[in-house]
Parts: sequence; structure tokens; C-alpha cells
Amino acid sequence: MKSVRLKNPGDISLADIPVPRRGKDQILIKVRSAGICGSDIGAYKGVNPLVSYPRIIGHEIAGEVVEVPEDEINLMPGDRVVLEPYVYCGHCYPCSIGHTNCCENLTVLGVHIDGGMAEYIAHPRHLVHKAPENIPWELLPLAEPLVISMHAVSQPKLVAGEHVVITGCGQIGLLCALYALIIGAIPIVVDPVKERLERARSLGVPFVVDPVGEDSVARIREITGGRMAEVVIEASGDARAVRNSIDYVAYAGRISFVGYSKADTPMPTSLFTKKELSIFGSRNSVGMFPESLRLISEGKVDVSALLTKSVSMDETPAMVADIAEHPDRYLKVTCLF
Ligand SMILES: [Zn+2]
Ligand SMILES: [Zn+2]
Repeated sequence: MKSVRLKNPGDISLADIPVPRRGKDQILIKVRSAGICGSDIGAYKGVNPLVSYPRIIGHEIAGEVVEVPEDEINLMPGDRVVLEPYVYCGHCYPCSIGHTNCCENLTVLGVHIDGGMAEYIAHPRHLVHKAPENIPWELLPLAEPLVISMHAVSQPKLVAGEHVVITGCGQIGLLCALYALIIGAIPIVVDPVKERLERARSLGVPFVVDPVGEDSVARIREITGGRMAEVVIEASGDARAVRNSIDYVAYAGRISFVGYSKADTPMPTSLFTKKELSIFGSRNSVGMFPESLRLISEGKVDVSALLTKSVSMDETPAMVADIAEHPDRYLKVTCLF
């Protein structure tokens, strides 16, 4: 079967590989669509230390069930499904307390193990979710970035009426803002790229701030009536944004870090104490696919607004290379197989 494979960093092409055999407790799936994610681009560029090569990329995967275990009762051949790509061990400490998203032995599709940009994939049945009929193939992969954002918003327990500053308005930051709106919170998006702020505005985000062109701390103070934001979600991984999160947050506030930092950031840790901050990491997600699919299906989150374009499998290797070269030209690209 055809697959999209990284032989080495910077070396991506279609590769002919054997169709996978369905293991015990696995579902065999005909892949129909896949999202190209920042982590696929990181794997292509060779900047993600977790990736080993050669590697089939892709962890935002939707498809059709081909074969199920004999005793499977929830899924049957022909069902449209989305894959939860975080394969956990089930016996380490975080798994034992239900935090399978940060399993010590976590293997993520397309990162630690081969991903789903191939004609077929076999995947553990407890990580396969039935998808509503009305979500088109080209949008189904977006259920995955949405669960990442939902988890980032849920970690600091954002509630209605609170201000939430979101630093970084790529797909994860933007989806955090849209999910915050559903909760009834007041998102304030901070990003230096004008087009991103405009897109956020057009999707209903009430406040946008340019941290380079204006005094972001003063703007947020004004918007929040002097309090600063009860919650900050850092969704860029950028060192300046990480540092600024402490200035954007209110006394007794909460910060959620979902952006993966590329380098360490020196922090005035005395402010953690002085402001009595609660700091949350946010990695992957746990248990949120059904709700993510419902929000998309019911039109509560308009993921089509994030889709830049869709390409065929044959076009995918060149697309990955182009996104790596020109990241600002694309928000989300999905591949149709
Ligand atoms: Zn992703
Ligand atoms: Zn584990």
C-alpha cells in the first residue's frame, strides 16, 4: 500500500509498504483523511527529538472500519471513525490515576511509532471513536487539534465570565479561543501576526492584542478592568510569550502551558509566590474525542474556518515540504486518501 514516509529529516516521499495485519484488540481501518500538524512538520525538519526515522507520519487520522475483533460490539465494518493517536501503557503511575495523556511510556502515532498517512492502519480498539455522519472527511482530522485545545482550557478549569488570555493564535490557540467562547468565558488573543488576529476577530473573539505593536500588559489591564486575566493559556511555545504569561495573569490566577517550548525560559519565580499562581501543563488530551466530535457535528466549533486546503496523498510530500518552508501561508491542510 501507499504511505507518506520520512526516510530521514528533510527526505519525504511516498513509500510502498505492506498492509498492516490487525492485531488482537485492534481495528483495521481504511484511512480516508489525515491532517498535517505542526509535529509532522517538526518531524520533517528533524527538530523533534522524540521522532525516530524512517517514520510514516500523521496522527490526525479519520477513516472507515474494515475489520473488527469478533467480540466487538460498538464498531462494525463501514463505520466512519477518528483515531485517538496517544497509545498509553496502562500500568505506569499517570496511567493508574487516569492521566493516560501523559503516560510515561506514551507512544504517539507518527512520532514514536508509525502514523496514519497510509492507505490502511491497525489501531487499538479502545482508541477508535465513531464519527458523526455529517462531518466531511476533510474536516474530521480536526477533531484531534480540538481535543488538544479543549484539554488546555480544561486544565485550569476555566469557567463562564472569566477572562482568558491566549498567547499564540495558530490552530491550537484559535481553537482554545473558540472553546472558551462555548464555555461563556471572554477570550483575549495575543499574537504578533495581524492576519491571525483578524481571523480570530472574524470568528467572534471579542479582544485581540498585538504584543509588538502595543503595550500588551496595559491593554489587558484595561480590558479586564484592572484585574488582569484569571486564566492565561500559553499556546505558542515562544519564550517571550511564556515569560509574559506571568504578567498577563491575575493575582490568584491560573496559567496553562500547552505550547511546546523550544528552549528554557528564565522566569521571575518570586511572582509565582507573590501572585499565588497555579501553573498547569497541558499535554495531549484524555477522554475528549466524543465531545470534540459532537461540537464539530453540531456546528458549535466551526473547524472549516481553519482549513486552508485539502490535497491528495500524491501531493502530500510536496505539501509537507512547502508548509515547512512557508508556515505562515497555512493554518490547516488535510490530505484526502
Ligand atoms: Zn496534531
Ligand atoms: Zn502509562
